[in-house]
Amino acid sequence: ARLVGEGVPVAIKDNISVEGMPTTCGSRLLEPYVPPYDAGVIERLRAAGAVLFGKTNLDEFAMGSSTEHSAFGPSRNPYSIERTTGGSSGGSAAAVAAGLVPLAIGSDTGGSIRQPAAFCGIVGMKPSYGLVSRYGLVAFASSLDQIGPFARTVDDARLLLEVIAGHDARDATSSVRGLSAPESGSNPGSLRGLKIGLPTEYFGEGIHAEVRAAVGAAQGVLQRMGAEVVEMQLPLTKYGIPAYYIVAPSEASSNLARYDGMRFGQRADGEDTGEVFSNTRGDGFGAEVKRRILLGTFALSSGYYDAYYGRAQKVRAAIRHEVETAFEDFDLLLTPTTPTVAFPLGEKVDDPLAMYMNDVLTVTANLAGIPAISLPCGRGTDSMPIGLQLMGPRFGEDKLFKAARAYENEAAPPYPWPAEPTVA
Ligand code: GLN
Repeated sequence: ARLVGEGVPVAIKDNISVEGMPTTCGSRLLEPYVPPYDAGVIERLRAAGAVLFGKTNLDEFAMGSSTEHSAFGPSRNPYSIERTTGGSSGGSAAAVAAGLVPLAIGSDTGGSIRQPAAFCGIVGMKPSYGLVSRYGLVAFASSLDQIGPFARTVDDARLLLEVIAGHDARDATSSVRGLSAPESGSNPGSLRGLKIGLPTEYFGEGIHAEVRAAVGAAQGVLQRMGAEVVEMQLPLTKYGIPAYYIVAPSEASSNLARYDGMRFGQRADGEDTGEVFSNTRGDGFGAEVKRRILLGTFALSSGYYDAYYGRAQKVRAAIRHEVETAFEDFDLLLTPTTPTVAFPLGEKVDDPLAMYMNDVLTVTANLAGIPAISLPCGRGTDSMPIGLQLMGPRFGEDKLFKAARAYENEAAPPYPWPAEPTVA
């Protein structure tokens, strides 16, 4: 592994195992679980000389889009403490945005790195499925989960990804391909020859005008640098949320079956084993996690499997195919990361569907297994940050970073950091 730099502090989302440090997953249920081993990414960070700064807050078991579903209370947005950080990796994003650490690690199952990065005005990246080892990551939805970097700049995100990427035999889905080398030669400021698709479905209903305007301005910047930007269609986009919210809870219901009070964390009293299981899970899990387990168990149950899980898998395959086909014509896709800027704390916490709709622009990358990055591209309501998303073909990280870096240089987002967070 290459050096991040001896002594660089890195904050770690609290669903990743660090030997000797409690892992809570934002849940009462795991208290006081202390893992006896390091996750694969932690081993790599230690070998690179990083200092493990601490663990960061998250929605319980990474299920959420605001970090309000943490048993330990919400994270707050450094740009306005009355607003959410996004989620589920809200603590990691806030720590970087507030200048507590230059780098942080998150996990992204449906947008949990990119959406908080957009809300907190920083860079967040979900690598290709299989690029980063999930050994030691608490599993949420195993066919979607990826670990990735948060940073203030594209180059810092790339450096952190270089450290954590690579094959790990302890994760059966880990790829041997590795991180693609940066594109060398030629003028790094020129995007001549790059063809970027602008899927119209990502700019439609529900996407706030200020977000559309900021990403539209970014499109202009990319064009001035020589990129060809062309409107195109991804008609299956609207099925992303329904497919994701069947596949993810189904996998979660299976993955979370292991929290039965026998091996990890809390154990409630009960007359017999069944009662111990149900009391432990009843007391330990929060409402959103229970909702996902119920949904997922239902979708997988005999008699309903074909209608829900089976159908969602077919839709997922179709979405994946549609996206792969798009990359036959386009190098990258440009979209907003989120429909709005960071919303106020409390606004959506009791409305699961409104919360789920936050992920409408990010779930496709997870369903398709492709890399995607969120970058700051302006400010909207109350000066809150707006993020743009670039998506690339699977293992096409090189193109993604090249375009992101070029945009960042040209557009000069609000540096130097931290950019006037308001603590008032
Ligand atoms: N917000 C999405 C969800 O609640 C994604 C979470 C994530 O990526 N971990 O499932």
